[in-house]
Amino acid sequence: MRAGSSVAVVGAGLGGLAAACVSAARGHAVTLYDKNDWLGGKAAVLHEGGFRFDMGPTILTVPKVLERIFQEAGRDIRDYLDLRRLDPQWRCFFDDNTRIDLMADVPTMAASMDRFAPGTGAGEGYKKFIEISEHLHGVSDKFFFWKAVEDLFDTIDIRANLNPGTLRDVLSLRMGSSVAGTIRSKVKDARLAQMLDHFVQYVGSSPYGAPAVLCAIAHMQTAEGVWYPMGGTRAVAEALAKLAGELGATLRPGNEVTGLAIENGAVKGVRTAAGTTPFDAVISNMDSVRTYRELVGGEVGRAYEKKNFEPACSGVVLYLGLNKRYDHLSHHDFVFSRDPEEEFDYIYRKGEPAPDPTAYLAAPSSTDASVAPEGGEALYVLVHTPYLRPHHDWRTMFPAYRQVILDKLKRTAGMPDLEERIVVERHLTPQDIHERYKVLNGAIYGLASHGKFMGAFKPGNRSRKVRGLYLAGGAAHPGPGMPMVMMSGWIAADAHDTDARGEVRASA
Ligand SMILES: Cc1cc2nc3c(=O)[nH]c(=O)nc-3n(C[C@H](O)[C@H](O)[C@H](O)COP(=O)(O)OP(=O)(O)OC[C@H]3O[C@@H](n4cnc5c(N)ncnc54)[C@H](O)[C@@H]3O)c2cc1C
Repeated sequence: MRAGSSVAVVGAGLGGLAAACVSAARGHAVTLYDKNDWLGGKAAVLHEGGFRFDMGPTILTVPKVLERIFQEAGRDIRDYLDLRRLDPQWRCFFDDNTRIDLMADVPTMAASMDRFAPGTGAGEGYKKFIEISEHLHGVSDKFFFWKAVEDLFDTIDIRANLNPGTLRDVLSLRMGSSVAGTIRSKVKDARLAQMLDHFVQYVGSSPYGAPAVLCAIAHMQTAEGVWYPMGGTRAVAEALAKLAGELGATLRPGNEVTGLAIENGAVKGVRTAAGTTPFDAVISNMDSVRTYRELVGGEVGRAYEKKNFEPACSGVVLYLGLNKRYDHLSHHDFVFSRDPEEEFDYIYRKGEPAPDPTAYLAAPSSTDASVAPEGGEALYVLVHTPYLRPHHDWRTMFPAYRQVILDKLKRTAGMPDLEERIVVERHLTPQDIHERYKVLNGAIYGLASHGKFMGAFKPGNRSRKVRGLYLAGGAAHPGPGMPMVMMSGWIAADAHDTDARGEVRASA
């Protein structure tokens, strides 16, 4: 390969768009394919009856990832996106009808927790939890972020780094402890622990199965904020697509890649309905397991399949255009289940929808009046469900589960008249998610982060099996969620660029 090589990016999710921007900014000739006729993948938008809904991600954190992508091209993100910081970050409604706001400032939050659960040491416990989280965030920055990683050996060169500092860092990853266990060792109040559990819902995994290192997400959010791009999270996809176009990438929505041309273990091009187009390298933003199974195929694809990766959770989304604004809602709200252990057991172990679920709500009209006609609300309701099992038929399951969700909101979120307020309604089921985005078993967030030791590791960004193939997106390192998939796009493009220039690999 050489600098200035030709690169196909398969899939224009946020990971694919980020990869296309970085690759084009580094001087490569980029062609970006997506089977859908829009760019942005899950960051899609729905316009209906005067309402505008972000269809997928709604909570943007760690905006410095986006900033770095724009900096690659020498651009200022502020010329592309109007980002507004939100605080409270979440409003939390519990089953016993109590409420608390999650605030960014740690001392303010600790004082609020002491008022919420007096006599439990909640504030002090929260401060200690955030200290752990901050430390884990630092260790993640050092070992996991901004580099192509597949396993512990990629992150730490044990022979070169066998010094007390590295050993201390490895030990401090708290391998063998779960997110839920770490939270409950510091915060005793069951409702507050349930709230903190939900950081790990950003990666669609059970806090009881996820490794403690994922507690880092709490510090990423408290320290770096929750942000709303004016125009919705869709604006992020549009800004990246604009940047990619300005940098000379060829954008080809409505074009599915059906296979890779591989010779002697190296990528030679992509296959579409139009035939085979030669490329020096491919960055796949398609789900990593499906990339190996469907695009690579053969013995390599079959061997990958045997790794038995577990999909992350799926979800049901209701898009409700309301003729009323509920003033007691904040921009982001969680309406919690009666029992987190029961809820997570249903979703992640039994593989059935939880009978009393947690619902996440986005009520963006207070930040962005353009989402709804005056006095109305574009209410977005997301409930996590198991990934698709063979017996799940969401066409028959949806009507009853829709009612479970609406009843939950009426009961726990103080919205008894909700059903009478609906003037526009659309929805997305796990089956829809599966088909629209070509993911693994309807998974929203790629692969589950389960396993108290190695749960944080995902398929690496530089394929060890096919030369010239790189992976970006929620099912590749460092994992799902808007900032992480954009970072994975940066990493995949950087790994390809490093290889193309014949430079020494940051990790191999
Ligand atoms: C309902 C929902 C709510 C979410 N909420 C949040 C949130 O609040 N905050 C947050 O940070 N994250 C959230 N997420 C997760 C976040 O949206 C994802 O992690 C991220 O957007 C996924 O990006 P990606 O790069 O993995 O690609 P995807 O968005 O999965 O896009 C992949 C693209 O590849 C295309 N493709 C696949 N195969 C092919 C092929 N063979 N040829 C051509 N094109 C192909 C697909 O059409 C798709 O457009 C949410 C997701 C969903 C669905």
